[in-house]
Amino acid sequence: MGDYILRCLSGGEIIPENYSLSCKSHSGFIRSEYAAKQITFRENEPGIFHYVDWLPVHSSLPTKTEPVTFKSEELCSELGHHNLWITFTGWYPERGCFAKTGSFKELEALPTLIRVRENGGGTLVVASAGNTGRAFAQMGADFGMPVLLVVPDSAADNIWTVSNEVPKSVTLVTVNGDYSDAIAAADEICRYPGYISEGGGKNVARRDGMATVMLSAAFTLGKLPDHYFQGVGSGTGGVAAWEASIRLLADGRFGSRLPKLHLAQNLPFVPMVNAWKRRSNIIEKEDMPENSALAVQEVYASVLTNRFPAYSVKGGVYDALWSCGGEMYSISNNEAKSASKLFADAENGIDLDPAAAVALAALQKALSDGSIKKDETVILNCTGGGYSRIAYDCHTEKIPVSQKIQPGETIGL
Ligand SMILES: *Cc1c(COP(=O)(O)O)cnc(C)c1O
Repeated sequence: MGDYILRCLSGGEIIPENYSLSCKSHSGFIRSEYAAKQITFRENEPGIFHYVDWLPVHSSLPTKTEPVTFKSEELCSELGHHNLWITFTGWYPERGCFAKTGSFKELEALPTLIRVRENGGGTLVVASAGNTGRAFAQMGADFGMPVLLVVPDSAADNIWTVSNEVPKSVTLVTVNGDYSDAIAAADEICRYPGYISEGGGKNVARRDGMATVMLSAAFTLGKLPDHYFQGVGSGTGGVAAWEASIRLLADGRFGSRLPKLHLAQNLPFVPMVNAWKRRSNIIEKEDMPENSALAVQEVYASVLTNRFPAYSVKGGVYDALWSCGGEMYSISNNEAKSASKLFADAENGIDLDPAAAVALAALQKALSDGSIKKDETVILNCTGGGYSRIAYDCHTEKIPVSQKIQPGETIGL
């Protein structure tokens, strides 16, 4: 299974695996290098663990969650492009998609939880009430692995899992403040022994988990796609797709050219698009919306409003776009909403996550301005969807609040 080493992308040194998130001497990303240069699709492993050769773990969990690549004939004819494929992670039973919290954040949560367990164990601490928080809570609940969520008071009601009972291994702490207070409280909690940070984009388990989207695409197509579309917030998913492509090139069986990344953000919050337009690796003040708090409220796809994306970091979004000649797109709410309707009409009424609708709208733009040739293969990463079907098909339970704290306070153990 996934035998690997970790290497610093800035200095090239090998980093000891101790649930390491960074190099002591450099600030760039570290990356996993797998013993298997050619990946074997593991029929007998469940879900995402089909790709365990290229996950930084040595064991698996009995999950059904995995990215699924399929062709939507109806969407192909609507868009007038017949080489369009969808890689979907969410809830869409007719297509074999069973991610119960509805997004590809489950792809990050699964290997991350195992990586913690295989490197000393502990309680994974996550400050999110969105897709990330729910994905880690669900996976923690499903497999009895300890997860502690820290969220603002006002967001406590967003935390549910698909379950018939309140999960025992998941704890919810709320902070009487906003997200930055919740993040600060989570950082403080991680100073206690036994409490582990999920690590964001720096965590190779999160990136390589999301990289399975490109692996699913490559195994289904029998080669790398020419184009890859995704909505990006932290940008980690785009970086993960690029890293998977680099490994697939080295594998030798999937083609000889990196897919072009087409990454999209939602107006008026488009800092990476603005920086990339100048081909600058720095997000300047003027790339951010004038009033970030207001802009966050205005966008349809709120998961795409990360204020500190993995853009400039060595091995991050800028490097990824540069190496594949990538493009970025600003998408309006109306464009995203009409893309969402287009998808639902073509695919059994499945409601896309707004971030996935932003990606589809970007694809529509690229097709209409002629930047995709007729016979080129396109992968649309549908990063989330099927929420209304989850509500219909599954029983959800809210996670009760176990402690309420004030900003600056930490939890009682
Ligand atoms: C988090 C998320 C994204 C953005 O991914 P990043 O890795 O942060 O760029 C896109 N779509 C959905 C559904 C998400 O939950």
